[in-house]
Amino acid sequence: MLRTLRRPALALAASALLLTTACGGGTESGPGAGAYDGLDVIVGFYPLQFVAESVGVGDVAVTNMTQPGAEAHDLELTPRQMAALGEADLVVHIKGFQPALDEAIVQAKPKNVLDVATVVDMHEINPDGSHAHEHTDEHADDEHAEPTTPTPAETHHAGDGHDHGDFDPHVWLDPTNMVKIAEATATALGQARPDEAAKFTANAASLTSELTTLDESFVAGLKTCERTEFVTSHAAFGYLADRYHLTEIGIRGLSPEAEPSPARVAEVQRLAREHGITTVFYETTVSPAVAEAIAGDLRLKTDVLDPLEGLSPEARGDNYLEVMNANLTALKAANGCS
Ligand SMILES: [Zn+2]
Repeated sequence: MLRTLRRPALALAASALLLTTACGGGTESGPGAGAYDGLDVIVGFYPLQFVAESVGVGDVAVTNMTQPGAEAHDLELTPRQMAALGEADLVVHIKGFQPALDEAIVQAKPKNVLDVATVVDMHEINPDGSHAHEHTDEHADDEHAEPTTPTPAETHHAGDGHDHGDFDPHVWLDPTNMVKIAEATATALGQARPDEAAKFTANAASLTSELTTLDESFVAGLKTCERTEFVTSHAAFGYLADRYHLTEIGIRGLSPEAEPSPARVAEVQRLAREHGITTVFYETTVSPAVAEAIAGDLRLKTDVLDPLEGLSPEARGDNYLEVMNANLTALKAANGCS
């Protein structure tokens, strides 16, 4: 927990120090006058924090509304968090992912709001609650082999009363979407502080280069594999699957807390046998009991595939890039990739 809290705190302290020495008296306007003069950015959950801290480094104090290790989907806001929203220079969220935050933003009316759903290509949710796979022109220039065509049976899961609205919110698990989020965050920060706009743009460009390297690693790493299907705890990896031509078999639907029906468990076991699945994936913030039960019956392995809805203390890395690389390693091992 300390790890995730330390970085913004240090950035804040360093910036405050610079301002004190450079500006002397400082300005007296606004709440907290005389203290930190950086931009107060509030984000809904971890991947948006990673982007805001990378793009705004040195000029922002980022507050993540989801506590480390907590479940991002079920976010509830305290009165103090509600009040902080109204004071923020920028709020970044994905409309539809955390309804409590969406509603609070309407109430608090922050100065600047970036809704990530307006800057990435959101995929619709099927009537049964699963991720609608889109095979549009965006894949036309990829170097992959022919895209696989998932059958409805493979992508189906029991309806689970998810609370996402009409779109699958898990866009951050496709690194190319993170590039769009980085660029939009740089624009939004630049509007909040025009003097630093060029710096934010440059920071977004270097983050983009790291994200592009990550994307290339996924393309290369998942190119030649024994199978494309993978079994996950909840269906968070639809965008990742679309990007790299995989087929996700979610034990649960788009929401992690709903318990799967016995019929869904039996269906997952049937699909696992049919596709020669070796590994049932679970995630650090959700009990692995169901994944272990499914794996145990079939004598399969279990392993972590991290949906990065938070950066838990048990995460296999210190940031988005490291955890995504760990996800790639786990997927390659499970799917027999050369
Ligand atoms: Zn999720």
